[in-house]
Amino acid sequence: MSPCAQLLSSSYCVRADLHTHTTASDGRLSPPGLVEKAALRGIELLSITDHDTVAAYPLARIAAQQHGVTLLPGVELSVQVGRRDIHLLAYGFDLTDPALGAALAEYRTKRITRAETIVERLAGLGVRIRFERVWYHAKGGVLGRPHIAKALLEAGLVATFGEAFDRYLGTEAPAYVAKTDQPASAMMALVHAAGGVTVLAHPGINLDEAVGAALVADGLDGVEVVHPSHNPLAKRRWAAFAAQHDLLTTGGSDYHGFGTFEDENFGSYTPPSAWVERLLARVAHPEAA
Ligand code: AMP
Ligand code: ZN
Ligand code: FE
Ligand code: FE
Repeated sequence: MSPCAQLLSSSYCVRADLHTHTTASDGRLSPPGLVEKAALRGIELLSITDHDTVAAYPLARIAAQQHGVTLLPGVELSVQVGRRDIHLLAYGFDLTDPALGAALAEYRTKRITRAETIVERLAGLGVRIRFERVWYHAKGGVLGRPHIAKALLEAGLVATFGEAFDRYLGTEAPAYVAKTDQPASAMMALVHAAGGVTVLAHPGINLDEAVGAALVADGLDGVEVVHPSHNPLAKRRWAAFAAQHDLLTTGGSDYHGFGTFEDENFGSYTPPSAWVERLLARVAHPEAA
């Protein structure tokens, strides 16, 4: 049993953050840096949920042992429903599962092609950045729009990170390129085969119950209820949805390490212990060993 589960079997309340990012995707802190900061914030159970990669874990694990933080295997997957890019969190799977690893690797390659297309579209709009700068900002990790936004900012083509999304990269903006189709059912089956569960990330941002119900039919196991983008109404709405469909409920800060707002969030969006306990009981790998 993981140390955390032992703690939970008493009346002790565990402080958890189940949604965080590192430099392995689009976060600012290195994996050990994130773990160290989590320990300072009193977080005892941490899941690193980088976009489409689990590369943070080998380095994070060493730091976690040093600081006494329990690491729950995690990843944030992108799947497409129509033109919409939906994020699924996966937890408690085998970090070395070959089939899941291959699917993640393939998706990362597709992200490179997509980023190249976005940079071409920007050039078509007269906004020129060098692709090497996008690579630079990705620090060898998973290429995403935030890295293009940084390249735009650095080149003085936008005044703020947010402006890059508003003017060019956002879903309604002219240089937006959707990710390639990745069916939710196939990804969820891979996670299940690797011993894990899947959770719909931050549905309160832009989703409705019909999308949630379709994912439940495809094998969704849970819903992220506690998230900085969720107001009390959204929390109540998605907690009710989870109860209706007998789903797991989770929460986290979605910390990327940018700005004072995110900094305050880290450690402040902890899901109730009972939710964590239920989640850990459902997965084959409750601790990154
Ligand atoms: P990608 O996975 O490449 O589509 O990039 C998605 C990431 O971009 C999200 O996880 C956020 O970190 C960031 N992002 C998306 N929309 C915005 C926005 N309007 N402003 C700032 N960051 C955003
Ligand atoms: Zn992100
Ligand atoms: Fe997300
Ligand atoms: Fe996230």
